[in-house]
Amino acid sequence: MPQSTPALLLLALATVLQAQNPFRTVPQPPSPVPVLASYPDTPAGKLLKEIKEHAEVVARVEYLADLIGPRLTGSEQLRRAQAWAMAEMRQLGAVTVHEEAYDFGLAWTRGVDSARLLTHNGLRFRVDQLAWSPGTKQPLQAELMLVDARNLAELQGFKGQLKGKILLRSNPDDKRPPLPRRGGDMAVFQAEQAALTQFLLDEGALATLSMSPRKYGLGFTSSGPGRDPKKAALAAAFVPQEPYKMLLRQLARKEPVKLELSLGGAFSAKPVQAYNVIGEIRGSEKPEEVVIVGGHLDSWDLGTGATDNATGSAVVLEILRAFQATGLKPKRTLRVILWSGEEEGLLGSRAYVEAHKAELDAIQAVLVDDMGTGMIRGFTLQGRENCRGLMAQALAPLNDLGVRELSLRTMNSTDHAPFDRTGVPAFAAIQDPVDYFEGTHHSQMDFADHVHPDQLVQGAQAMAVTAWELLNMAERLPHGVVARPPGEGATR
Ligand SMILES: [Zn+2]
Repeated sequence: MPQSTPALLLLALATVLQAQNPFRTVPQPPSPVPVLASYPDTPAGKLLKEIKEHAEVVARVEYLADLIGPRLTGSEQLRRAQAWAMAEMRQLGAVTVHEEAYDFGLAWTRGVDSARLLTHNGLRFRVDQLAWSPGTKQPLQAELMLVDARNLAELQGFKGQLKGKILLRSNPDDKRPPLPRRGGDMAVFQAEQAALTQFLLDEGALATLSMSPRKYGLGFTSSGPGRDPKKAALAAAFVPQEPYKMLLRQLARKEPVKLELSLGGAFSAKPVQAYNVIGEIRGSEKPEEVVIVGGHLDSWDLGTGATDNATGSAVVLEILRAFQATGLKPKRTLRVILWSGEEEGLLGSRAYVEAHKAELDAIQAVLVDDMGTGMIRGFTLQGRENCRGLMAQALAPLNDLGVRELSLRTMNSTDHAPFDRTGVPAFAAIQDPVDYFEGTHHSQMDFADHVHPDQLVQGAQAMAVTAWELLNMAERLPHGVVARPPGEGATR
């Protein structure tokens, strides 16, 4: 889910190329994966060959996506995926396979969402409720109003006008100069959001609609403002760009635009526990030192969570398979973790770090795979210049596969981040975006069709070999909290 600078450049380039060709309506195909002429007779060479020739990553993505399906944290489907993952880990030779529970709060289930214009062209169009926002109980019938206030001060300008209205909260035609960039303090942000919501409730607004960030009719979802239904919250949904912009054009005619809106999401009656799935291959020489390789098994629920993040989960399992098939035994312990609650704020990895505080010094490194199907180019160093030399050494057997990037950038939006903040060298894979950020990410397009087998196999090779090198090198990666300005780092 994170966006690296080169990834954005590639995306921009792809967009330009597309714009030049009027017949192209689909993203450019991903760049070809380099073909290795031969495999050296080294552990890295053995892993590369084994994975290239016998990878099971695509089959595992298809199992998770096509047979189990969307995996919201707190859902039965995620529990099925976790039971499956534990069985797979055991079969692939992992030991001490177990789950670790943490308190998650209430589960949330999507219902039927619908929208229909009661004026103008009477169109029915797609709406996707923000997860963990309250449903509408019964269909709302109300007038729409554009309220493009960006903070509480601007919102107060709408005082007295919002009663009984459904609010359009995005304005793609906004010509105002952007507000100064705010710091990244999550607590401050949440307090601001809570104050905004309370104002809207006090004013009697009924629901809010935002424009999907994805093009071409794609919906989108993310977490609602909070996962506590006792806190002030409004029914909220995303609308794809085309109908959303139509609503704005209708409103611009200064005639009332009236909508019937139904959002069917519901909270569970009781709080639930959530779980991380963990397995190990014990180290032969330094078993107390650990390399963690992980990805989140949970997903959003508009599609099947194929590229976010069945792909990363399947890569983690493929590493176990490749170690087993080659008979390679690492000196340090390999610990594989499939987290949950990632999509609601890295909750599983945060809970893991909290529960294992005393053991963090023993971690050599954490590697996380969570950016879809695209080939791996390297890792984010998170500002850890002092890890560059050893990480470059770990990537050396992969250079011919296109893996050589060690960006100093800090990425905060996936499960390595809670480790990174405590001083553990923890890195996210930098991947080619393919159609992740303009397509599959959090949209109804996240199906296994969008998995490119050759790209994903390269990703598995990159993760397995990087892990292997970190498991076996003589040196330890230096730990230490990196001083950063508040809010630095890309977020989702
Ligand atoms: Zn993800």
